[in-house]
Amino acid sequence: MSSAKEIWETALGELELQVSRPNYQTWFKGTQGIAYDGDQFLLGVPNAFVAEYLEKNQRSLIEKTLIGLIHRNVNVRFQILWAQEGGAGRACEVKRNVSALYGFNPRYTFDNFVVGAGNRMAYAAARSAAERPSEQSYNPLFIYASPGLGKTHLLQAIGHKALENNLKPLYVSGEQFTNDFVAALRERRTDEFRAKYRSADMLMVDDVHFIGGKEQTEESFFHTFNDLHNAGRQIVITSDCPPRSMPLLQERLRSRFEWGLTVDIQPPDYETRLAILQSKAEQVQASITPDVLDLMAHDIQQNIRELEGKLNRIIAYARLLRAQITLELAARALKDVAGLKELPAGQCTPNLLIGAVAETFALTADDLLGRKRDKEVAQARQVAMYLLRQQGGCSLSDIGAVLGGRNASTVSYACEKVEQDIANSHLLRRRVEDIQKKLSPQG
Ligand code: ADP
Ligand code: MG
Repeated sequence: MSSAKEIWETALGELELQVSRPNYQTWFKGTQGIAYDGDQFLLGVPNAFVAEYLEKNQRSLIEKTLIGLIHRNVNVRFQILWAQEGGAGRACEVKRNVSALYGFNPRYTFDNFVVGAGNRMAYAAARSAAERPSEQSYNPLFIYASPGLGKTHLLQAIGHKALENNLKPLYVSGEQFTNDFVAALRERRTDEFRAKYRSADMLMVDDVHFIGGKEQTEESFFHTFNDLHNAGRQIVITSDCPPRSMPLLQERLRSRFEWGLTVDIQPPDYETRLAILQSKAEQVQASITPDVLDLMAHDIQQNIRELEGKLNRIIAYARLLRAQITLELAARALKDVAGLKELPAGQCTPNLLIGAVAETFALTADDLLGRKRDKEVAQARQVAMYLLRQQGGCSLSDIGAVLGGRNASTVSYACEKVEQDIANSHLLRRRVEDIQKKLSPQG
């Protein structure tokens, strides 16, 4: 068996037999094998909800199924498939697979990087290092910033460019470098370790501050650095602080870091935040009204990762509910979804609840949100309304809106009806209890 795509298609065939039909339809349909490097398996999923659900509930089943097929241990990572990439064609797909194997996120390109006052210098320096690597004046290139401001993005953008120019980049985090080195020492494979790092055309170390204070690792990094630098290879390093403020770093390594160019990234201002949000929304082809973007950009949110996380949640929420993104929906999505872990005990998000009801009734979430009126669907929908009402936190009209735009009196009627039906039907009572069990934290 060869490609990740084929492996995953076979795995899907098996998974389809192992999970219930609604479960399969809701969570596995639309997933894709993206890349497999003999160790990690990169699985593409349509949105953040699916990623979150599979990660929490199906990871071990997925890994077990894959191990059964490829007969070796495998680590699954989930990656959201962006709509834009779907239609981009075969050549693009191949390129993406290659860069995924090098550990690069396909979205972290120069084209997707929004330039503003806070990151203009860093961007220009990164472009130079990518286009004309190894020039003395920016070798090494040292980029520092607080978390979530785009260090990894810029670093990987350089990596993508290097691959395009047929250079072999080696991208590691400070932590990976450390682990790699320690493992090589332990297993007496230091020659192999040296060969691996010396063979790179370009060395990129993300979050180098991690190695600070680890004497032997620093020592090894010092020699790696010197060898590559002497051989005229480009080195790019990121860190959460400038070399001079890295408390535990050996002086000689600090001075090496300062040989080339040191640039920082400052938090984005309002205009940059707005531009980033617009660009992200465009990338995933979500139509979001300017008032929603404006509201989000005004929220003093200096960490771009968190800003992006909020946007993704709003988009995923709207897509699941098939609703327009309005200010009200955005507020609700953030309240509902962002607090997934902080929700009061016994409460869950409407989406999870709807998913659980659908599964128990052997229907899909779409059935419940849609227009179908046959008895089974109608009853399942009423049960969902009843349970949402019971757990509190949502008004009748909220519940109606979540369940495909029904009005408050429909919801109120449904709640009464289910109460009566439960009293009269063992089967229904058992189903409702099943759902409650499924949704309880212990379940
Ligand atoms: P860091 O490595 O500094 O912690 P990342 O590079 O991981 O931060 O960036 C966090 C998120 O913000 C990523 O999804 C990245 O794509 C996004 N991001 C950061 N800066 C920009 C930018 N200028 N334009 C677009 N996206 C950005
Ligand atoms: Mg980073």
